[in-house]
Amino acid sequence: MTQLLGIAPVIAIDGPAGAGKSTAARDLARRLGFLLLDTGAIYRSLALQARERRVAWNDERTLADLARHLRIEFVPLPDGTQAVFVDGRDVSAPIRTPEISEGASRVSALPAVREALLDLQRLIAAEGRYVVEGRDIGTVVLPWAPVKFFLTASAEVRAQRRHEELRGRGQSSDLAATQAEIEARDQRDQSRAVAPLRAAEDAIRIDTSKMALEEVVTELERVARTRLGV
Ligand code: C5P
Repeated sequence: MTQLLGIAPVIAIDGPAGAGKSTAARDLARRLGFLLLDTGAIYRSLALQARERRVAWNDERTLADLARHLRIEFVPLPDGTQAVFVDGRDVSAPIRTPEISEGASRVSALPAVREALLDLQRLIAAEGRYVVEGRDIGTVVLPWAPVKFFLTASAEVRAQRRHEELRGRGQSSDLAATQAEIEARDQRDQSRAVAPLRAAEDAIRIDTSKMALEEVVTELERVARTRLGV
């Protein structure tokens, strides 16, 4: 499979919460005519299922079992975003609450859960022409990806962006609490034993703190087109 995947034109985008990954990945995919795989939505969907079935965030065996049977679908929407369906139900909104963000970060720290979701992510991306967004795409999921980006931004900027994003969706948000939540999540994502958040050695690092989204996407597109010849 590795060899097959090696020739697939895929772009890995990793980085911490609020670095601008989701929006940049969505716009880059649209500009290139690629599909988008938001791997965070997979961990979020698992966390939602766990919450609804009253499975504890640290019950590794049950969570890994749920992960192996996760029936998730991404349905493209006209605005370039995607709806996320689990067992045929639209979970796009409930997977974005702060509680599920926290749950996703907890369940994703469990090795058996990551292992259970690895093939699912690789199989989706194997079709090629995918922009895959996450934390460990360039390092673990698709280390052979021909183009890898690692987006960062200061904690203040990331909190401000997440705050505005939540409010834009009509959810209540407190800036200080959002920053604390983001920092706790980063800490957990960076320090976990398996697939911690870090840039691949061959990733191109971009600090988006002082960049407008448009500039970020233009830079990603320039590099991607050069490297992939698309
Ligand atoms: O990207 P998003 O904020 O939706 O991801 C939610 C959580 O899922 C992250 O905080 C991280 O803990 C986890 N995650 C991960 N590996 C990925 C994508 C997300 O561990 N590839």
